[in-house]
Amino acid sequence: MKILAINAGSSSLKFQLFAMPAETVLCSGIAERIGLEMGIFTIKFNGKKEVLELPLTDHTVAVNLLLESLLKHEIIADFSEIKGIGHRVVHGGELFKDSTILDAEKVQKIADLSALAPLHNPAHILGIKGFDAVLPDVPAVAVFDTAFHQTMPAEAYMYATPYEWYADYAVRKYGFHGTSHLYVSHETAKFIGKEVADSKVIVCHLGNGGSLSAVLNGESVNTSMGFTPLAGIPMGTRSGDIDPAIIPYMMQKTGQTADEIVNDLNKKSGFAGVSGISSDARDITSAVANGDEKAKLALDIYTKRIAQTIAAYLVDLDGCDAIAFTAGIGENSAIIREAICNRLGALGVTINSEVNNATQGKAAVISEPTSAIQVVVMPTDEEVMIARDVMRLAF
Ligand code: AMP
Repeated sequence: MKILAINAGSSSLKFQLFAMPAETVLCSGIAERIGLEMGIFTIKFNGKKEVLELPLTDHTVAVNLLLESLLKHEIIADFSEIKGIGHRVVHGGELFKDSTILDAEKVQKIADLSALAPLHNPAHILGIKGFDAVLPDVPAVAVFDTAFHQTMPAEAYMYATPYEWYADYAVRKYGFHGTSHLYVSHETAKFIGKEVADSKVIVCHLGNGGSLSAVLNGESVNTSMGFTPLAGIPMGTRSGDIDPAIIPYMMQKTGQTADEIVNDLNKKSGFAGVSGISSDARDITSAVANGDEKAKLALDIYTKRIAQTIAAYLVDLDGCDAIAFTAGIGENSAIIREAICNRLGALGVTINSEVNNATQGKAAVISEPTSAIQVVVMPTDEEVMIARDVMRLAF
């Protein structure tokens, strides 16, 4: 049975086609620059890659092109082979505690949540409607980045702000990257030989965006992103947590609006802002190797804040079986993993540098056998989780 996993952005549409239940990836790709003068469509299959440049007027046009390419490259013989579509949706608010089969009413609810995720949810709706226009009878499932964190207790998700902010305006910690935190925490527990239902795992999802989660017996009990994905640890271009009083202060000093300051915190901060060099971890670590002081500062702030968050989550979990590193930086940067773990001496964490240095993009235990907490690298796979949820809910 063939299942599509879709991640739609405002001008892009990423896809992976799975053969289920084997979980084999049949093809993957992305339609980019949708709505602009010239679009780009890339599809990879069987070790081959095709890149087309052509106008992609809207998401429906991109969906049609994707389906035509599947036929053209004989990845499918007929559209009817596609039995389900899973859509990544960033914000499910408090309404969606699990993935769900979509109908008109639920699509409207996702649209209604756009105030909480103005950049993301409207784009997901475009993707959902694009497929509905072309394959109206194929079941569609929404998989929410926030859903996994809906198990957090109130003491973790509530801010110490006036209660009415929560009751009247839904101001609370939601958390994001949930699909990745779910996958990686469960896979890590199994990898170290624990029952998921009896495990304490701290997941460090370190990509261009980054968040940590504390996962107790398979359920999220805390996470570092908050009301929006700006909160928590610093990231490629995001500041992570700051004192909120900085915002009116900087408005007054620079004459910028609140939106402009928040834009700077989202797009001009983190690695990029502190180093003045790049948002990309590879550029930062190579600048550090070349003696760049600001790059070193950017990296030191990053690794310190991650180490502090790990230490805090030991309190949430009352102990910890494993710390898992995942996503672009977590899976690939031995230097950054080591810099974080070197700050965890007080927790009894020791890593094996040789194994750490030899580990890139594959699952491995990188701690010493004597380490008080096992440290694991675990590649994430959000797309397969989306395909699994389509299978679980639609069949
Ligand atoms: P993601 O958002 O998960 O795709 O992660 C993107 C981040 O991963 C960027 O900061 C990249 O610099 C980083 N990254 C990807 N590959 C490597 C690598 N081989 N070594 C270090 N960092 C990497």
